[in-house]
Amino acid sequence: MDTPYWNPRMETQSRERLEALQLRKLRAAVAWTLERAPWQGDRLRAAGITPESLRTLDDVRRIPFLTREEWMESQGERPPFGDVLALPPEAAIRYHTTSGTSGSRPLAVLDSPKDWEWITEMWCYALWGFGVRPADSVFFAFSYGTFVGFWGAHYAAEKLGCLVLPGGNQSTEARVRMIDTVGATVVCSTPTYALRMAQEAEALGIDLRNGPVRRLILSGEPAGSIPATKALIEQQWGAKAADTAGMTEVGTIIMFECEHQPGGAHILEDHFLEEVIDPATDEPVPHGEEGERVVTSFGRGFIPVLRYRTRDLVCRVPGDRCGCGRTFDLYDGGIRGRVDDMKVVRGTNVYPRAIEGIVRGWESVEEFQIRLFTQQGIRDEIEVLVEFSGDAGAERDAAVKEMTRRLCEAHEGLRIGVRVAEPDSLPRFELKAKRLRDERVVWGSADDRKVM
Ligand SMILES: [Zn+2]
Repeated sequence: MDTPYWNPRMETQSRERLEALQLRKLRAAVAWTLERAPWQGDRLRAAGITPESLRTLDDVRRIPFLTREEWMESQGERPPFGDVLALPPEAAIRYHTTSGTSGSRPLAVLDSPKDWEWITEMWCYALWGFGVRPADSVFFAFSYGTFVGFWGAHYAAEKLGCLVLPGGNQSTEARVRMIDTVGATVVCSTPTYALRMAQEAEALGIDLRNGPVRRLILSGEPAGSIPATKALIEQQWGAKAADTAGMTEVGTIIMFECEHQPGGAHILEDHFLEEVIDPATDEPVPHGEEGERVVTSFGRGFIPVLRYRTRDLVCRVPGDRCGCGRTFDLYDGGIRGRVDDMKVVRGTNVYPRAIEGIVRGWESVEEFQIRLFTQQGIRDEIEVLVEFSGDAGAERDAAVKEMTRRLCEAHEGLRIGVRVAEPDSLPRFELKAKRLRDERVVWGSADDRKVM
C-alpha cells in the first residue's frame, strides 16, 4: 500500500500527542547532555536545569541559548572540535564542516553510526513525502566534500531502494549529460545550480522539459521557496520542485516540503523542537510573525544541540494550512533569509530575497548581482546587475524598465538601479550563491575606511 507519509503514525498524530512526545524527548536530551557533554552540561547545571525540572514544553525557555560564537570559541580553545562532544572522537565515523559562506572559520562536527542512521531517516521523510519512490533514479549534483549538504539525502535514496547517481567531481556539462543519458527521474541540487544546469542543457540541445526528470529536491539556499525562482526551475525542468532546509550544526534537514506544495516546509517536529523568537528581545513571537529560528535537536548524540540560535528568519504557521494531513507545523516561505542579511539603504530595509523574488520574474534572466556602494563618498546606493540570455534583444529594455519600477515599488520608493551586465560576466555558483556585494564605505570603523 502506498501512503504519502514516510512515517504515518508520527506525521499525522494529534498536536497533543506530538507535544507530549517532544517533552519526553527534551528530557532525554537534557539527561544525555548532563551525563555526557561537559561543556553543554555545565551550562545546564549553571542554569539549574534537570530533566525533572522540565514540566512543560515552555520550560525549554529556561535553557540558555547556544550561539555560533560560543561554539566557535570552544572550538578555538580546544581545537579541532571544542568541548562539545558527548562521545570520544574515536567513536565517530565521519567528519563534516559548515560551508563557511559568512567568511568565518567553519565549525567542525563528528557523528556516530547511530547519528548517521538518524540523519538518513530525516531525509527519508522529505524524499518520500515529495513522492520519491524505489523505482526512481536520483542524481546528486553535489561535490561530496566536507560540507554535509546532500550526504544524508544520498543515503536516504539508497534506503528507499532508489538507484543513486552520485554526480560529484563533474563539470556542469558532464552532469547534464549523465542526467540525460542515464535517465534520472529525480535531481538534488541547490536552486541556483538547478537553473545553471537548465541553461547548460539548453546550450547542449538537451530538452529537459520533455525528459524523464519529474522531481527536484532543492536545498542549501532560501530560494527553494521564493515563488518566482521556484516557478522558473519547475518550468525549465518540466518537473515539480520541493524545498528542504537543514544545517551542519544538527547534521541534517529540519524541514521539508510535501507534495501539496503549500508554499512552505513542514518542520520535522518529532525530531526537533523549534522556537521562533524576536532576535532583538529574545521573546517568542506568535504564529504568522517573522522571527529567528531556535533549534533543539533530539537526534544527534555526538554533539547535543539545545536551543541553538540559527540566525535564520522564518514565519511559522499551523500544519493544517496544508491539505496533506500532516500535523507538523510549517515554515511559510521556508527560510526567508538570515537575520544578518537585511541591509539598510537610506533608511529602507532591503532583503536579498525580496529582490530575487522580483528579478526572477523574467525567464531571460541568466544571473544577477545586488551591489551596494557609496556615491561621491556620502550617499548609499543600490543597483542590481542583470545578465540576460543572448536572445533577449528588444524585450530587454522593457524588462529593465519594468524591473526598476517593481523594485522601487517594493522598497518604499527607494531607487534601485538596474544595469545590464555583459554575458558571462557575473559569478556562477554550484553551492551557495553569494549575490550581494556590499562595497559601501563605512566611516568611523577601525581603519576609518573599511570596505565590507
Ligand atoms: Zn503538507
